[in-house]
Amino acid sequence: MEKKESKPLPHELERMAPKERQKHLEERMRGIIAYAYEKAPAVKERFDKAGITPDDIRTVKDLDKIPLLRKDDLIALQKADPPFGGYLAVSLDSLERIYQSPGPIYDPQRKRGFGAGGGMGPGFGKGQIVMNTWSYHVTPAGLGVDQLLRGMGFTVVPMGTGNTELQVQVMRDLKVHGFVGTPSFLKIIIDKAEEMGYNFKKDFNLKWAMVSGEMGGEPLRKLFQDKYGIFCMGGDAYATADVGTVATGCEKQSGMHITADAIVEIVDPATGKQLEPGEVGEIVVTPFDEVYPLIRFGTGDLSMMVEESCECGRTTPRLPKIMGRSGEAVRVRGMFVHPKQTDEVIAKFPEIRRYQLVVTRPQDRDEMVLKVEFADDGVDKEKLKNALDKSFRDTCKVRFDRMDFAAKGAIPEGAKHIVDERVY
Ligand SMILES: [Zn+2]
Repeated sequence: MEKKESKPLPHELERMAPKERQKHLEERMRGIIAYAYEKAPAVKERFDKAGITPDDIRTVKDLDKIPLLRKDDLIALQKADPPFGGYLAVSLDSLERIYQSPGPIYDPQRKRGFGAGGGMGPGFGKGQIVMNTWSYHVTPAGLGVDQLLRGMGFTVVPMGTGNTELQVQVMRDLKVHGFVGTPSFLKIIIDKAEEMGYNFKKDFNLKWAMVSGEMGGEPLRKLFQDKYGIFCMGGDAYATADVGTVATGCEKQSGMHITADAIVEIVDPATGKQLEPGEVGEIVVTPFDEVYPLIRFGTGDLSMMVEESCECGRTTPRLPKIMGRSGEAVRVRGMFVHPKQTDEVIAKFPEIRRYQLVVTRPQDRDEMVLKVEFADDGVDKEKLKNALDKSFRDTCKVRFDRMDFAAKGAIPEGAKHIVDERVY
């Protein structure tokens, strides 16, 4: 019998040997680039300016040749050539909706909603009632998720944001199975229900939650699971209004798997060049989107790529978490250091009252000095230095050169935690 070459489905792609998946993804990448170059005038212009054509981009490595597209560029382009700055690849009258996000920036509605393929565990599906508390107004979150959930066979209650008492009432009256929204909003609803005299675990039927959109939702997720028996799906998800879903968590909660519907790169925000796995850099996305092909869109968010396969069976690379915005990080001897990382290190040492990391560049070599101020005297400085040195290296992947003990009050309150004093 003749074997027919068929396109792999998303869940097959997620579990394929990485090399083989790369072949499929690069084929789609070449397709979307050729398509975008032909249909979206701004893409052609960007390529012409850089002196390249789609033929120059054969592999993911070749993407380095295309200058990044930043949100600010897109805002300027949209202003000069409204509404989509030359990136719309279909005719305006074929769009279903147009969303606006802060900037202002306009996004045409895609064919697909937000992020298919995220970690659906066992026991979910048809006939279940889900409350969607993402905003339905103006931004793509609410309607996008609504479309996705209905596509999976759920019955959606389009709650949107706010009106906590009504949320509690609907959740109880309809015996709602699933909640979609931010972890903090679910907490508010649970608190409200208990304040109204209910026993949340006994009186409600909430079995699972797909919570995302906030940094540091982990403690709440643990509370929902341990105290209320609500299964939290997928850890976090990472999506932006401009490029849709980039990565979704899985049932093993070990970071977010990169979608098979886009090419995702981690680059040096200063040069736009790709970095190695394990190096922290800016997330850059090329979605396979035929409506709005934003090739190499720089999200401004920092993370790194983890390539080891996951216990859940997916072999796609993961982003462990979003590590902050690229503008606040400094690159020191090839590694990014972000205030979130240094805060995490210092938080382990309650004897430190204030700190500041100062980066200079004497004799053309980056130097990092960690200035610390103690809450009281009588700290074993040598012991502290060794412990800090280790913790700093573990978290930031780079060492500081010196530690300075500042006099009490020498570091002003509210001073920046990382200061870059390098002059090039
Ligand atoms: Zn996984």
